[in-house]
Amino acid sequence: MNQKQINRQGLDHKPVFVYAIICPYCHDTIYSRTRHDMRFCSCEQTSIDGGFDYMKIGSVGIMPASILLCRNVTRRELYADWNTGADKHGHHKNCVEEANE
Ligand SMILES: [Zn+2]
Repeated sequence: MNQKQINRQGLDHKPVFVYAIICPYCHDTIYSRTRHDMRFCSCEQTSIDGGFDYMKIGSVGIMPASILLCRNVTRRELYADWNTGADKHGHHKNCVEEANE
C-alpha cells in the first residue's frame, strides 16, 4: 500500500495504516497522528511529523527504520487523541525489547 492509497481512506475507515519509525537508539516506535503532530521517542534523538499529509523525519545520526503499522482506530480517533492530549496512540516504548520477551 502506498501513501496515495492510504490518503484515500476516509476519516472513519478502520483500521488505518500509518508509517512509523523505530528509533535506532531507544527502539521506541513512533508515528505522527495528524498534520503538525510532531512525536519524539523517549531519548528524543528521533522524531516524526506530518500525519497523513507528509512525513518529516528528524534524527541526530542513524536514519531510523520505517515500518507500515496497522492500527485498529480511525483517522478521526487519531486526530482526537492528538487534539485532546489523550496521547494513547503514536508512541510505543521499546518495542524490540517487548518482542523479545
Ligand atoms: Zn529514541
